[in-house]
Amino acid sequence: MLKVGIIGAGIQGVCNALFLQKKGYQVILFDRDEPGNAASYGNAGHFSPYASVPLNRPDIVSDVPSMLMSSRGPLALKWNYVPKMIPWFSKFLMNCTNDKMMHTAKNMHQILDQSLLAYDELFEEIDLEGLVENNGILYVWNEKNLKSRELEIKIRDDLGVKQQVVNKKEIHDLEPNLKPFYHGGVFYDYARHARNPKKILIKLFQNFINKGGKFLKLNIQDLNFDEEKPVLRSETQRFVFDKLVIACGAFSKKTN
Ligand SMILES: Cc1cc2nc3c(=O)[nH]c(=O)nc-3n(C[C@H](O)[C@H](O)[C@H](O)COP(=O)(O)OP(=O)(O)OC[C@H]3O[C@@H](n4cnc5c(N)ncnc54)[C@H](O)[C@@H]3O)c2cc1C
Repeated sequence: MLKVGIIGAGIQGVCNALFLQKKGYQVILFDRDEPGNAASYGNAGHFSPYASVPLNRPDIVSDVPSMLMSSRGPLALKWNYVPKMIPWFSKFLMNCTNDKMMHTAKNMHQILDQSLLAYDELFEEIDLEGLVENNGILYVWNEKNLKSRELEIKIRDDLGVKQQVVNKKEIHDLEPNLKPFYHGGVFYDYARHARNPKKILIKLFQNFINKGGKFLKLNIQDLNFDEEKPVLRSETQRFVFDKLVIACGAFSKKTN
């Protein structure tokens, strides 16, 4: 039986572990912490297969200065961090062209389009006990930055993403308790919402363990290849695998 090592027990690592297990691989999952304590713990919980439009896009370049200046804007920056982030920010800007945006959007769409089906397959084996709401997700906006909203709607249309553009009356009918500050919106009736992302992850993780998966709480410090096989090292142990998945989220570039 082929052995696969997975570094990172966030939602990516755990879902990869379950699918590889289904395919008959022997899987060992590593994390320096308990499963699901990083980004997979505290996110907004949207199952959002429509979210293929990246942050890197031409219109964001002109929006950033006003976002930074507004105390209620979606961006905040520690000004003493600016010198350190210049290399990252330059790369971010270089990826804001129309071509790069569409390249990312198409590839994201290919993956996201399969995501609900993939979750359904994993959810069949666990009891979710009301942890997932299937009421759709509604986005609304005011009359500011309407060009950006139009761009997003057009890209999703071009990609074939299912979306329902809604007017003021339709928004009110869908969500009568919402203060009518809005100008328009979009409704994804198939989207879902996780009430507690961490609890869902733990149920999936437990299923992996129940089916014979192994979890080791270790900080992986080094990754190398020995006769083309990946070799992992923690402070005290060494592991050789046939295949390796790096699912360390934001930490995936460095292993120490
Ligand atoms: C505020 C916020 C809101 C979000 N809202 C949504 C949303 O609504 N919907 C959505 O789909 N996504 C959302 N996201 C994104 C989503 O949370 C992440 O994409 C997802 O959780 C990433 O999962 P992951 O498994 O790749 O990484 P993580 O959950 O970060 O897991 C990585 C794991 O790797 C481990 N690790 C790292 N390095 C090592 C090492 N050297 N050795 C051992 N272990 C290691 C870490 O301990 C960690 O447990 C949101 C993110 C944020 C921050």
